[in-house]
Amino acid sequence: MVLPRRLPRVFRSGRNWVALSVLAPLGMLAMCGLMLLDLRHDAWDKAEQTSRNLLQVVERDIARNIEIIDLSLQAVADNLRAPETLAASARARQMILFDRAATARDLGVMLVLDENGDSVLDASALPARKVNNADRDYFQAHKTHPDLGLHISKPVVSRLTGAPIVVLSRRIDKPDGSFGGVVLGSLKLSYFSRLFDRIGLGRDGAINLYLREGTRIVRHPYVAADIGVNIAGTPNFDRFVREGNGVFVGTSVRDGVERHYAFTQVGTFPLVLNVALATREIEAAWRVKALGIAAVVLVLCGLTIALSLLFGRELRRRAEMHAEMARLSRTDALTGLANRRRFEHALSRASEDARRTGKPLALLVVDADHFKRYNDSYGHDVGDEVLRGLARCLSASVHRPGDLACRVGGEEFALLLPGTDEHGAVSVAREVHDQVSRLAVPSAGIGAGAVTVSIGVAAASGNRTGAAQDLYRRADAALYEAKAGGRNQTRAAVPVDASGGRGKVAA
Ligand code: GH3
Ligand code: MG
Ligand code: MG
Repeated sequence: MVLPRRLPRVFRSGRNWVALSVLAPLGMLAMCGLMLLDLRHDAWDKAEQTSRNLLQVVERDIARNIEIIDLSLQAVADNLRAPETLAASARARQMILFDRAATARDLGVMLVLDENGDSVLDASALPARKVNNADRDYFQAHKTHPDLGLHISKPVVSRLTGAPIVVLSRRIDKPDGSFGGVVLGSLKLSYFSRLFDRIGLGRDGAINLYLREGTRIVRHPYVAADIGVNIAGTPNFDRFVREGNGVFVGTSVRDGVERHYAFTQVGTFPLVLNVALATREIEAAWRVKALGIAAVVLVLCGLTIALSLLFGRELRRRAEMHAEMARLSRTDALTGLANRRRFEHALSRASEDARRTGKPLALLVVDADHFKRYNDSYGHDVGDEVLRGLARCLSASVHRPGDLACRVGGEEFALLLPGTDEHGAVSVAREVHDQVSRLAVPSAGIGAGAVTVSIGVAAASGNRTGAAQDLYRRADAALYEAKAGGRNQTRAAVPVDASGGRGKVAA
């Protein structure tokens, strides 16, 4: 197969191009897949980092505010026990007990309730606004649990202001240790709304603050129905409580949306805060990018496959064309026999083989007698027809796979017979005469026996085989003698070791 020499060998095979057309796109797809996975990983990393940062900032703010309120509550509870406070006038007592924290923007009310739940001291009013909160959970909790410390209530509506609040409260002990009431400060839920207001978490993202026992205090974005709902016992909430802080992906029981949760306990308080981002939204930007890249890569892969297959097919066609050209360059166009070029090549190969293997080699040179007359009498086309007939006769006279019939000149043919001695060659010559004697061209009125050939035979045996040209020269000389002897006959060349003799009549 003759292919462009400029291409490296590996690229000259059509099959290799087909393999390449499969492997290159596969490689491209693998690379693209890895790259997209990496980009997806980056999107998740970024989301997790954002959630954690946000969680930390929000958690600190809430913890600090609750701490400030709690410090005020502790101060009130402690100072109430001091005799000086009890002895002071109502106004002075109010000034001593409620510092400026009580005026903080998000602090709703700050009250002291006596053991019956009646308001006795009010940071914002003198005398205290009348209210009884004995029925509130926190009041009952402090009454029955002396060591409760700071209590954070479920979200409730303030009886004094009507605003939604959570109540932070501490127990007040009487000097004898018995229940003396409760000091409370309320934190408006509007504080959380303001805190979360400018945080964008996507359409399905959320921030939730829960009491540790499962009640939702607040959710951003705000939906009134979410407030006060208890989700204790759900898989996600169990995980918040069990692990304290961390991240995981889970499905919300609220709306069935899959989210990435970053969660933490708020300070040391019984509060759970989480930042939840919808996984679909985390991957949204990546998905758009991935679809774009995948589409481009698929088109490129398709193009690569198509081009490689086309190129492979083109190479195959060229290879077939080259093979056909090579065959034609060794074939005689008129008769279809091997041409002179192939004959010379085959003769020198056969001579070498004979020398190497010691086997005999014979050559018949066959020339049409008075061929010129056919051309002159019947025209060139009939001459050609006779030549084609002679070619058929020669082909029919040889039977071994190694035998080669060639047209070496105008009306001159050769039969190369490897492994054949003179005796065999002469019998092939006889067969040629026999075949030619039956050759006729009825359309031109040429009957059987009109065409004759003269044959020169030369044979060499094994190591006595000389150069290829010698064999040809001897066969040609024998042919000359056959012509001189009257044509339509075969002459065998004198063997190489019997010097000086003339060709002998063989048929
Ligand atoms: P001889 O018996 O001495 O060989 O006589 P000859 O006429 O056969 O030999 P000669 O060499 O004088 O003439 C050969 C002729 O063969 C001359 C040429 O016109 C003819 N010839 C050669 N090639 C072709 C061919 O391809 N087609 C045809 N039709 N004739 C050809
Ligand atoms: Mg002739
Ligand atoms: Mg001739």
